Amino acid sequence: MTTSALPATAEAPLDERIAAILDELRDEYRQPHDSPWIIGFSGGKDSTLLAQLVFEMLLALPPRQRVRPVHVVANDTLVESPVIARHLDAVLDRIARSIEPLRLPVTVARTVPDVDQTFWVNLIGRGYPSPSRMFRWCTDRMKIAPTSRYIREQVDAAGRVIMLLGVRAAESAQRAVSVFRYQNAGERLNPHNTLHGCMIYKPIVDLTTEEVWQVLLQSAPPWGGSHRELVTIYRNAAGGECPLVTDREEAPSCGTKSSRFGCWTCTVVEKDRSAEAFVDAGHENLEPLLALRDWLKEIREDNRRRSPRRRNGQLNFVGEGRLIPGPFTLDARREILVRLLETQEEVGFQLISLEEIEAIHRLWVADSIGTGA
Ligand code: SF4
Repeated sequence: MTTSALPATAEAPLDERIAAILDELRDEYRQPHDSPWIIGFSGGKDSTLLAQLVFEMLLALPPRQRVRPVHVVANDTLVESPVIARHLDAVLDRIARSIEPLRLPVTVARTVPDVDQTFWVNLIGRGYPSPSRMFRWCTDRMKIAPTSRYIREQVDAAGRVIMLLGVRAAESAQRAVSVFRYQNAGERLNPHNTLHGCMIYKPIVDLTTEEVWQVLLQSAPPWGGSHRELVTIYRNAAGGECPLVTDREEAPSCGTKSSRFGCWTCTVVEKDRSAEAFVDAGHENLEPLLALRDWLKEIREDNRRRSPRRRNGQLNFVGEGRLIPGPFTLDARREILVRLLETQEEVGFQLISLEEIEAIHRLWVADSIGTGA
C-alpha cells in the first residue's frame, strides 16, 4: 500500500499545494499495478476540481504512460434537482467528447437506481411514506446501491479498484468525522467500509472551500467550456452540494441543510431552500416541483392517507402504545400519481418514466390481492 508523499503544508502557497496534489496523483497513477481509478463525480465544485486535477495529471504524462483506465462515474437518482441535472448532463457530455481528442483512458458512466427501486416506485408503488429523518429509505436505494453495483462490476473485472472522492475535511464538521473515521494516519489509500476490493483515495481532502473556488475560478476545465455555470449554480442555490455517496458513513449529510443539491423530492429537509433560491433566481418553472414536494411532506403526517398496518401486516407501536402508521393507502398512492402527472404536464419535462408507472401498477395489483412485498 502506498503512503502519502510529504504534503505541502497548509501554510504553503496554494499553487505549491496544488502542485503537491498533482505530484501525488501522478505517483499513485504510476504505481506498478493496473487497478482502475473510479472518480465519483457529482458535478459539484469538489468533484469537478478533482476530475480537473486528474485530467491535468494525465495530460502531463506522455500518452503511452496513460495506461490505467479512469472511470468518471455520476449517479442520477432520477429525481435530481433539474438545474443540477442539466448541468451534470452538459459536463458529462463535454468530458465524454474530450476523451478521444485528448487521448485519455477515460470512460464516462452514469448509474441510476433499478426501476424497481426508484423514488416513485417506492413512494407510489409500495406506499413508503415520504422520506424523513426517522425513515430515510431513499439514500441506500437511489444512491448507494447503484454506485456500489458499478464498483463491484469493476472489482469483478479488475480484482481491485481505487475510488477517488472529492471529499474535504473542511466541508462540514459532520463530514470531517466521517472523512477521518476510517482513515489510517499516513496511508494514502484506505479500504472502503463495505465494498471489498475498493480502496478510497481522497486527494483534495486538505483543501478549504475558498481554495477550491480559487483554483476553479483561475482555471478552465481541460474538457472545454468554463466553470461559469458552476459558479452561477452555487450562487443561486445558496447551499452545499450532495456528493456521490458510496457508503452510509458518508450519507448523514444527504438530505440535510448542509447538503442541498439533492433530490427535488427531498422531504427530509424542512424546506428546500436551495430550490427556493433557484426560483428566486429566475427558475420559476421549478415552482410546481416545490409545491409538490411540500405537499408530499404534508401528507406524510396525515394518518387518513396511511394504512395502520405495515407492509408485512404488523401493527407498529412505540412508547406508551402510540401507533406508527404504515405505508400510504392505495387511494393515497393513486392520488399522488395523479398529482405527479399533473405536475409533469405543467412543467413540460419528464418527472416519471413509463417503466416506473408500469412497475407501480404491478405493485398495486400485488397489494390489492395481498401478495405485495
Ligand atoms: S437528497 Fe433527500 S430524497 Fe434524495 S437521497 Fe438524500 S435524503 Fe433521500
